[in-house]
Amino acid sequence: MKQYDIVIVGAGPAGLTAAIYACRAAKKVLVLEVKSYGGQIINTPDVENYPAFDHISGFDFATKLYEQAENLGAEIEFERVKNIEDRGNEKIVKTDENNYACTAVILANGSENRRLGLDNEEALVGRGVSYCATCDGAFYKGKKVAVNGGGNTALEDALYLSNLADMVYLIHRRDEFRGQEATVKQLKEKQNVKFILNSKISKLNAGKKLESIEVKDKNGKVEKIEVDGLFVAIGRRPENEGLIKLLKLDDAGYVVAGEDCHTNILGVFVAGDSRAKEVRQLVTATSDGAIAAEEAIKYINERK
Ligand code: NAP
Repeated sequence: MKQYDIVIVGAGPAGLTAAIYACRAAKKVLVLEVKSYGGQIINTPDVENYPAFDHISGFDFATKLYEQAENLGAEIEFERVKNIEDRGNEKIVKTDENNYACTAVILANGSENRRLGLDNEEALVGRGVSYCATCDGAFYKGKKVAVNGGGNTALEDALYLSNLADMVYLIHRRDEFRGQEATVKQLKEKQNVKFILNSKISKLNAGKKLESIEVKDKNGKVEKIEVDGLFVAIGRRPENEGLIKLLKLDDAGYVVAGEDCHTNILGVFVAGDSRAKEVRQLVTATSDGAIAAEEAIKYINERK
């Protein structure tokens, strides 16, 4: 079995930053990722709030981070982590393909797109329903789309799509947005963006592909809107259930840990969006990555 000082689960901003710090401290590091590197930020067309970058695409940011970690010596494998076994001073990280032994684990596995839970939703993915505007937006050039959600993802998706689609309906269940006011202002200035507030999507109508959505307002009035695409951006859910026995999670499934990123299991740390915390931003994910790595390094050195 291959042996590492630190195995990091997830190659998003938190995981890759942790890898950079751990490699610079001469630790043997493996990063495991189930999808593509970059995590959620890869879907953000334009990052404007990361210190020292006035504009950078999420893809470019993630790629630079990935290359930086790899150039510093991090090994990065694309395998799904099934389970982590805590054997005290040694942890065994089991993937679909391999088992890896290590002294410390950093969980930086982020979260998954939340679904609306409507009939047809899963079946229409790739046929009108999408969770990623930067991945699929180009298919809707000159067409009508809806974006659902009121956070930064929905706002940024709506802005991105307004430059491609003829019409963007931004649907949100309240009349106040959770996302940044500056983006709301930009959207209000767009001629082809229509806000539909205090409303929820109640039905997806489709033949071979999505044809229209039904939107119910808070008084129960239903409006049918013809759209070619629906971009669902209603947040994320963590996927920590069953990863390690006895790992303490909060009610929403996030890993309980303070600012020091220590979980309740000795030698297991958590960084980024999967940690229970108030502010989930790119900068707080990279910050967590640095802290988790420093704490893991300290933990390993104390055992040598
Ligand atoms: P979010 O901030 O959790 O927002 C989710 C939105 O979806 C909320 O407006 C919520 O409504 C709505 N929602 C949740 N469940 C719903 C349902 N079942 N039906 C209808 N609407 C529902 O998620 P996010 O926008 O994906 O952002 C996640 C984190 O990443 C946030 O911390 C965000 O700031 C950050 N982020 C940052 C950037 C950036 O810094 N450039 C870019 C993207 C994301 P309510 O408001 O009513 O709860």
